[in-house]
Amino acid sequence: MIPASFEYVRALSVEEAVTALSAAGEDAKVLAGGQSLMPLLRLRLAYPDPLVDVGRIEELREIRDTGDALVIGALATHHQVLRDPLVRAHAPLIAQATATVADPAVRHRGTFGGSLAHADPAGDLPAVAVALDAVFLLRSVRGEREIPAADFFVDWMTSALEPDELLTGIRVPKLGPGWGVHYEKFHRTAQAWAIVGVACAVRRERGAIEDARVALTNMGPTPVRAHAVERFIEGRSVSGDAFRAASEHAAEGTSPPADLHGSSEYRAHLARVLTARALTAAAAV
Ligand SMILES: Cc1cc2nc3c(=O)[nH]c(=O)nc-3n(C[C@H](O)[C@H](O)[C@H](O)COP(=O)(O)OP(=O)(O)OC[C@H]3O[C@@H](n4cnc5c(N)ncnc54)[C@H](O)[C@@H]3O)c2cc1C
Repeated sequence: MIPASFEYVRALSVEEAVTALSAAGEDAKVLAGGQSLMPLLRLRLAYPDPLVDVGRIEELREIRDTGDALVIGALATHHQVLRDPLVRAHAPLIAQATATVADPAVRHRGTFGGSLAHADPAGDLPAVAVALDAVFLLRSVRGEREIPAADFFVDWMTSALEPDELLTGIRVPKLGPGWGVHYEKFHRTAQAWAIVGVACAVRRERGAIEDARVALTNMGPTPVRAHAVERFIEGRSVSGDAFRAASEHAAEGTSPPADLHGSSEYRAHLARVLTARALTAAAAV
């Protein structure tokens, strides 16, 4: 189908983008890689007006090392993130999860920030951002603000972004020595969306799990932090039995959707199985 008509603004700097968003009403939308937004427009499920295209703002593509963290520009494409040596070295969970996102064509256009701003609980990167305690960097004409990932995802496809705000980057604390990570995704076919996914990072010390961070994809309207799993496993010796026992808590506090791909009960089962696998793989590193 053909989208309804809309006004189009191409912003060439962050300043131009936030000025355009501020001048527009509540119906304004940012266009980044267009991989999620364009299908919505074509199906006439969204009627943004104006569309503020930020796709040519080069400064938002940068991935920088700031000492104890990386700042990934919102417009860094999945392809760029996947190949970036800083991401591979200091945030390998992002690289692993990004490798499972869609196909090369989508990964060349789709952006890291767009995937997060879209706030789709079936997207792979929101749970990763939650597991890594990432911080979202927002800008508007009113100034800058920072939101922890845990507070950014508000409801199904709804984030804490105000209509006049631009996501400029995501700060990801580096994982130091002793950390192992794993993203376990269960999907119908390669390159498809997750039916359920588990993002996991654990820190081993003297044969025990000292820190654990686990977050779930597609187990509710937002990504879910599996606190009960983390509490159970922290301080325990590394063993298959401990991981299996911890994973029994994976579905606690979740409200998994039911759809053509699986019932809520099936997703709860998957969350337990995939969490055991993710913990085992992360702890083996
Ligand atoms: C065939 C296909 C398969 C896919 N499979 C997967 C998959 O397996 N896993 C997965 O996680 N994703 C998957 N995706 C989704 C894809 O990763 C995202 O659509 C894409 O990366 C979103 O980024 P974008 O730059 O294209 O955002 P856009 O489509 O341009 O924007 C998406 C939303 O985010 C907002 N937005 C974007 N950037 C900003 C910003 N900087 N500030 C404020 N708001 C912003 C837009 O206004 C819009 O509401 C798939 C997509 C397709 C088309």
